[in-house]
Amino acid sequence: MMGRLKSDQGQLFYEFHLGDAVPEDHLVRKIDTALDLSWLRSELAPHYSLMGRPSIDPELMIRMLIVGYVFAIRSERLICREVQVNLAYRWFCKLGIEDAIPDHSAFSRARNERFREGDVFRRVFERVVEACIAAGLVGGEGFAVNASLIAADANKQRSIAGQDWWKDRDPARSSRAVKEYLATLDDTAWGAASDVVPKFVSPSDPAAQWTGAHKGPAFFAYSDNYLIDVKFGVIVDVEASRAIRQAEVGAARTMIERTEERFGLKPERLVGDTAYGAAPMLNWLVEEKGIAPHIPVFDKSKRDDGTFSRSDFRYDPTSDVYHCPGGKRLGTSGTVHEGKTLLYRASKLDCDVCPLKPKCCPKEPSRKIPRDIPEHARDVARSFAGTEGFETSRRERKKIEMRFAHLKLGRLRLRGPQGAQDEFVLAAIAQNLRRLASLVARAPPAQVLCIT
Ligand code: SF4
Repeated sequence: MMGRLKSDQGQLFYEFHLGDAVPEDHLVRKIDTALDLSWLRSELAPHYSLMGRPSIDPELMIRMLIVGYVFAIRSERLICREVQVNLAYRWFCKLGIEDAIPDHSAFSRARNERFREGDVFRRVFERVVEACIAAGLVGGEGFAVNASLIAADANKQRSIAGQDWWKDRDPARSSRAVKEYLATLDDTAWGAASDVVPKFVSPSDPAAQWTGAHKGPAFFAYSDNYLIDVKFGVIVDVEASRAIRQAEVGAARTMIERTEERFGLKPERLVGDTAYGAAPMLNWLVEEKGIAPHIPVFDKSKRDDGTFSRSDFRYDPTSDVYHCPGGKRLGTSGTVHEGKTLLYRASKLDCDVCPLKPKCCPKEPSRKIPRDIPEHARDVARSFAGTEGFETSRRERKKIEMRFAHLKLGRLRLRGPQGAQDEFVLAAIAQNLRRLASLVARAPPAQVLCIT
């Protein structure tokens, strides 16, 4: 017999417990077990006035945003609507069935003003990382770094040529995104990362970089930089930067320093791709931080014309000379060129009679080898290549690529450096919570919640 829907929506009284309507294995339950925001009110209290109309509860704001970033609902209007109609989201946000949902415009204002002043998203992020550390999900031995391009909320059609955008405009008469960009002009992750004038600039979001790095059509983008612990892929730091290599390398340094300062974590090795393999970065890792760079060396000394490359010459650090393929020594006078390079020269007498000269220096009287002062760090990085540890690191690099593959950010909704930063930090909070929930959801709460 065909069943019939029993419709009695006019019923006045129900016995209803919101918690009973949320399945035991629903993701919001696992995330709720892993999340502790009991510290939030007391830490935010200085940013609120004691008088006036009550604002939206900050814990409600954070919980609604977590729902948005975990379930890929990023429009504030949509988040408010979904929390209104979805019982699981309501339960996670600690709302009753009859509680009112914040108005989306008030929600947006609070998010962009008071929450930024209090740096709330970063504090929540750090608490979640602390929870991951407490749950034993962070090894601290190996970190991996990488960046992913995320499309900015900027249109090519409304852009202007790079040389037509002037930086000395009055911040007081500019939009929030422009003001934020003007405030970061001296920052190495933003304005000071490069002097190159971009081809196009978006007047509504000038920090967004016009880039063709994806090999397809160019677009305006920001870089989302992650530093992860390779044990379980927990994101230990996140940073927004301009979408150029120099800025991404600067962001990597910032994240390594900040992780050491905030959590007392300094890895023994750093895993990265060639973008992080230039001499200054390797030198910083090896000489200043004492971190082993498991990073392919960025080296432009390879020759393609059939003559010997620098790698065909063996450097002897004990006597500070190179040995050429013909068995002769190349020494240096110690003069530093361009503030960073020493030249090691072969004797003209040796080269004149050498049978290898056509393969070595056919157009010069003798061969010279340039060596940057931080070359030692490159040699250290080269010494790891091909080792078992390096191969393990190469496999572990995939974990950070997976973090980006699972990142549910399409095009950014917020503009400006701070807007990008907020979105990236929220996305990282959501990813870490999912990780924490999936790995320790069944552990006793005390193991996860002892983070205050
Ligand atoms: S040409 Fe000079 S530097 Fe090159 S292999 Fe011969 S001796 Fe060595």
